[in-house]
Amino acid sequence: MKVGFIGLGNMGAPMAMNLVKAGHTLTVFDLNTQAVQTLVDAGAEAAPSPRAAVSGAQCVVTMLPAAAHVRSVLTGPDGVLAGLAKGVKIIDSSTIDPGSVLEFVRLAQANGNTFVDAPVSGGTGGAAAGTLTFMVGGDAAMVEELKPLLSAMGKNIVACGKASTGQVAKICNNLVLGITMAGVSEAMALGEALGIDPKVLGGIINSSTGRCWSSDTYNPFPGVIESAPAGRGYTGGFGTDLMLKDMGLATDAARSARRPLYMGAVAQQLYQTVSANGAGALDFSSVINLYRKKGAGQ
Ligand code: NAD
Repeated sequence: MKVGFIGLGNMGAPMAMNLVKAGHTLTVFDLNTQAVQTLVDAGAEAAPSPRAAVSGAQCVVTMLPAAAHVRSVLTGPDGVLAGLAKGVKIIDSSTIDPGSVLEFVRLAQANGNTFVDAPVSGGTGGAAAGTLTFMVGGDAAMVEELKPLLSAMGKNIVACGKASTGQVAKICNNLVLGITMAGVSEAMALGEALGIDPKVLGGIINSSTGRCWSSDTYNPFPGVIESAPAGRGYTGGFGTDLMLKDMGLATDAARSARRPLYMGAVAQQLYQTVSANGAGALDFSSVINLYRKKGAGQ
């Protein structure tokens, strides 16, 4: 397939790489020229704008930080909608609010195109391994149509229902993730303070009832899980500012649905504190540094 791919960050770059490996023809755009060069070295073509990236494309994938970036990439003068042929699907894997999805669905429809929310989970490791879960705001027929492309990047492709329900699933999942990471951080830092070897504690939790992804795959304590961002200075993972955005999406959604969020509200303030301390670009598991004695592993 001829694919226009926009957004080559921590997630987008490995996802685009897997599409190239699977034999798709990619034209890519990102504001970061170094990220573009890495894809060009792997066989993709570089474009000077989103509009140029999607010219002649049979499908478009966007993987951008937030709704404002998706809006400008879609609707800007050199944007996707200005350059796209009729009848092309725009698959957006960014995590954004359901209201913006519905707005983009209408804009794409007016242009003769289809906008599909297909956010992902699995982290940068899942993106590199091609094992992401895609939460598609569409029905089983839509998933079948998207499978040839999405299965090069993910192993679970789930039909969530009508447009925007992919984002509903993603926001609820990340609400759990933000809370569990804070919980694992509290427990690991307490264990350290009480004198247990963090690797022993991590091993116990991971074979006990406290086990979760935040503990067994992405443990925030340095050295417990070698491949986790904690082992490389909290770089190259899921930025705290992105987690803070997702906690904001959850609290906004809860407000409009008139539902309480007790744990989510506290977790949001923890990530906001990390961000206010100037560490918003570090992986969100660095939230553990709020609990550890200054200097410990920092
Ligand atoms: P990132 O910040 O690493 O990458 C975003 C990329 O978008 C950057 O390369 C940036 O240059 C580019 N960009 C920004 N504005 C642009 C524009 N106007 N035109 C072209 N390119 C532009 O973010 P990420 O970690 O790859 O996350 C992307 C999305 O996926 C976010 O919505 C995030 O919440 C979600 N997500 C991230 C993870 C993760 O583990 N990192 C996991 C699941 C979902």
